[in-house]
Amino acid sequence: MTSKLIAGNWKMNGSLAANAALLQTILSGVRQPACAVAVCVPAPYLAQCQALLSETSVELGAQDVSAHEAGAYTGEVSALMLRDFGVRYAIVGHSERRQYHGETDLVVAEKAQRALATGITPIVCVGETLAQRDAGLTEEVVKRQLAAVIHLNGHCISEIVVAYEPVWAIGTGKTATPEQAQAVHAVLRAQLQAASTQAGRIRILYGGSMNAANAASLLAQPDIDGGLIGGASLKATDFLSIINAAS
Ligand code: PEP
Repeated sequence: MTSKLIAGNWKMNGSLAANAALLQTILSGVRQPACAVAVCVPAPYLAQCQALLSETSVELGAQDVSAHEAGAYTGEVSALMLRDFGVRYAIVGHSERRQYHGETDLVVAEKAQRALATGITPIVCVGETLAQRDAGLTEEVVKRQLAAVIHLNGHCISEIVVAYEPVWAIGTGKTATPEQAQAVHAVLRAQLQAASTQAGRIRILYGGSMNAANAASLLAQPDIDGGLIGGASLKATDFLSIINAAS
């Protein structure tokens, strides 16, 4: 099995000064991490973070990528542009983009396809709302979201990262219990296994209020291969604790 991946999602936070201070502290704490580490930063800071992370063990990620190759798509950032800045990962289908920007399962699948075609690993987010969980629809929802990506990407699916992020746990301080998360991860693993003989190497991350206190128990689950970390990735000591829990 590949090592775990701990990826920070800074969301729309940061400044030149804050980013430099945060990365400096993280880098001084993770010289030789036993897991993979990445930070997904706002697009305007890609150049700054590329420079700060060069020759380090922390990889660079973006928070979105356009489904289009190039052209008249005002405001969008293409996969080729991300690659120019050494981007290794791009989050696609984050629930905040599905919710506030109307991204459909198909658009998310197209974004994953564009990233893969450009040599960028998409971190494909799936997850149910609280209403869907309460209605017993969790499995159906996450399987539908992942199926769209599998359908469009065929055998390339072995190159993606999946992030299970229950919407009700994101930024709320409510974390799925290790057992709740593991149950959904096992469903996603089985779906990936049915689609690809290489499914064993696909990392499935958990995301949703993961923090220094709960990371170890979540990461101990057999099908949890890392974390996508929002709020706690903005605090160097918390992010370092999570990295240690994964190592
Ligand atoms: C996220 O935004 O992907 C996330 C998991 O956020 P948080 O850790 O703050 O819940």
